[in-house]
Amino acid sequence: MSEAKDRSKHPCFNKETSGSCGRVHLPVAPGCNIQCNYCNRKYDCVNESRPGVTSAILPPDKAVEYLDEVLKKEPRITVVGIAGPGDPMAEAKRTIETIERINEKYPDMLYCLSSNGLALPEHVDRLAELGVTHVTVTMNAVDPEIGAKIYSWVRVGKVVYRGVEGARILLERQLESIRLLKAKGITVKVNSIIIPGVNDHHLIEVAKVAAELGADIQNLIPLHPTADTPFAGMEEPTKALIHELRAKGGELVPQMTHCKRCRADAVGLLCSDRSSELIPTLNKLAC
Ligand code: SF4
Ligand code: SF4
Repeated sequence: MSEAKDRSKHPCFNKETSGSCGRVHLPVAPGCNIQCNYCNRKYDCVNESRPGVTSAILPPDKAVEYLDEVLKKEPRITVVGIAGPGDPMAEAKRTIETIERINEKYPDMLYCLSSNGLALPEHVDRLAELGVTHVTVTMNAVDPEIGAKIYSWVRVGKVVYRGVEGARILLERQLESIRLLKAKGITVKVNSIIIPGVNDHHLIEVAKVAAELGADIQNLIPLHPTADTPFAGMEEPTKALIHELRAKGGELVPQMTHCKRCRADAVGLLCSDRSSELIPTLNKLAC
C-alpha cells in the first residue's frame, strides 16, 4: 500500500477535514450475503438519504468515466468509497475490478470500503495491494445470541445459515477481518447500529472488542426504522441514549459523531451532498 497517502483527508475519519475534503460512493455492488433486519434496498428514491439507496448501479468498466465527471463538478473529492448498495465484498469481483481501474488513473486517491465482514478476510491482501486505506466493518454484536436477533440469515457460498449459527459465523469473520486489516496497516472503523431493546445494552462490549482488536474508530449509528423490514416498527434511539453510549464507548475507542448515513451514490462534502446533480451522469453510464 502507498504510504504516501495523506489519510487525514478522509472526512469521515477526520472531522477537521470534513469541510474541505469530499467523498464519492461508487454504487457498483448491488448484492449482499446476509440479511440485516433493518435493511431494505428495494427503495430507489432520489429523495431518500440512507445507506442502501442509490439511483442506479454503476458497471465497474464505467467507474473511471463516472469519476472523471464527478471530479469536474466536485474537485475536492479525496476519497473514493464503495458502500453498496449491497455489500462490497459480497460483490468482490465488481468491487476489486472497480478499484483496479480507478487506481490506474487516480493512484493518489484514498480508497474506502464498507462491509459486513463476512466475505472480507479472503480479500484483505488484494485490497492492501491496491492501496485501500480505510475499511469499515459493521459489527452490531459480539454475542451470537444477540446477533441472531439482528440478522435473518447469513450466506456462505450456497449455504444459508440462520439464527445463532449464522450470527456466530458472521461474528468470527468480522473479528478476523479487523485483525487482518490492522495487520496490513489499514485504518479501520467499526460501525454499530444502536437498536433499542436489542443491542443497546451490549454496545459497550462491542466497543471493548473493537478496541482490543485495534480498531481506530467506532461509529455508533442510531437505527433508522425502514419500511418493510422486521425492525420497521421499532423506536429510534433517543438522543440521550446515543450520547450516553458514545460517551461510554469513547472511553474505549474514539467515536465518530458526524456521520450523515449517506446514500450508496453519495457525492461531495459530508455537509453538502451533490448526488442529485450527478444522477443524470450515473443513469447514462448505467444503461
Ligand atoms: Fe443491507 Fe448492508 Fe446488512 Fe447487507 S450488510 S443486509 S446491504 S445493511
Ligand atoms: Fe462517512 Fe457516515 Fe457518510 Fe459513510 S455514511 S461516508 S461514514 S458520513
